[in-house]
Amino acid sequence: MRPFAYTRAADPGQAVSLVGGDPRAAFLAGGTTQLDLMKDGVLGPERLVDITRLPLGGIVHDDAAVRVGALTTMAELAADPVVRDRLPFVRQALLLGASVQLRGMATVGGNLLQRTRCRYFRDPGVAACNKRAPGSGCAAVPGVQRMHAVLGTSDHCIALHASDLAVPLTALDAVVHTRHADGTRSIPLTRFYLPPGDSPHVENVLRHGELITAVEIPLPAWGTRSRYLKVRDRASYEFALVSAGVALVVEDGVVRTARVALGGVGTVPWRARGAEEALRGARADAASFRRAAEAALAGARPLPGTAFKIELARRTLVRTLESVAEESS
Ligand code: FAD
Ligand code: SF4
Repeated sequence: MRPFAYTRAADPGQAVSLVGGDPRAAFLAGGTTQLDLMKDGVLGPERLVDITRLPLGGIVHDDAAVRVGALTTMAELAADPVVRDRLPFVRQALLLGASVQLRGMATVGGNLLQRTRCRYFRDPGVAACNKRAPGSGCAAVPGVQRMHAVLGTSDHCIALHASDLAVPLTALDAVVHTRHADGTRSIPLTRFYLPPGDSPHVENVLRHGELITAVEIPLPAWGTRSRYLKVRDRASYEFALVSAGVALVVEDGVVRTARVALGGVGTVPWRARGAEEALRGARADAASFRRAAEAALAGARPLPGTAFKIELARRTLVRTLESVAEESS
């Protein structure tokens, strides 16, 4: 690992000015992404600004939303009683991610900003990676693509966004609260991530040195049932091949409201609005669920190594919808 300076920030304002004022500085939260990538020689910041002692933890509830401090760990959020009762698919996404040890260390802010698992991005011995070295090409397009995206891709990058948590949060229209040098802002998660286009190294709308302070998760209507289903190569400690996060209100066999997002298929956590439209007002039955699954994958652009994901994602979504509908009946 390259040597770097280490500073522990005394307050959020100092953290923002230390990182914002130095293009070679980065925030350090749980370190489970940041330090891995530094040890592998993928990232080489000259200064790490430790934010773990800042007062950005804790979970606050009201009737409308759960406000989660950015430094809340994945384990703490999964253990929250309101999350357990009102947001079961958020809890499932958290508990199906990483490992017990990692969930005790990894923060919610860091989870949303984790980097892709593309093996070429993570191997500095591979020259062609537009995300790591802009303009260098993409080794994945002619390479091994099993863990890559089919939605939101470009000719310049097909890397997945790997967060499980971001999938239900995207379905719920969560909002990211930040602090930057000139003030604060609130960014809907559906507009937070940027598809690769011709600049895959720009992954989200944050400015350099902008600190996530909290994430606000709106509570769905009473009577909503939800589920997160993750399909992967191993039963634990593995990223998703595909996943689906679904929240439905079903009354008298009819879908009244639908929120649907997919993981493991998109360059960003994928809100499946076409599926939601197909479901709203439809009978909660196999035919409607299949139509919704077709709509969800309508824009997919497969490569030979990712083509299997399209039918796998459709079936995963159908199975998730079926299980939520069964619970509602
Ligand atoms: P850090 O590593 O400290 O930071 C990550 C990035 O976010 C850095 O760029 C850092 O500068 C930035 N950052 C952190 N906090 C803030 C903030 N408040 N404001 C602005 N920038 C910030 N995730 C899943 O979803 N599902 C999985 O199955 C899964 N499996 C994993 C398996 C392994 C072996 C590992 C190592 C990780 C896995 N992860 C998985 C990813 C894990 O969830 C993330 O590494 C973790 O959530 C990152 O949080 P952190 O606090 O450690 O962030
Ligand atoms: Fe790099 Fe993206 Fe290509 Fe992976 S898919 S090698 S991250 S440009």
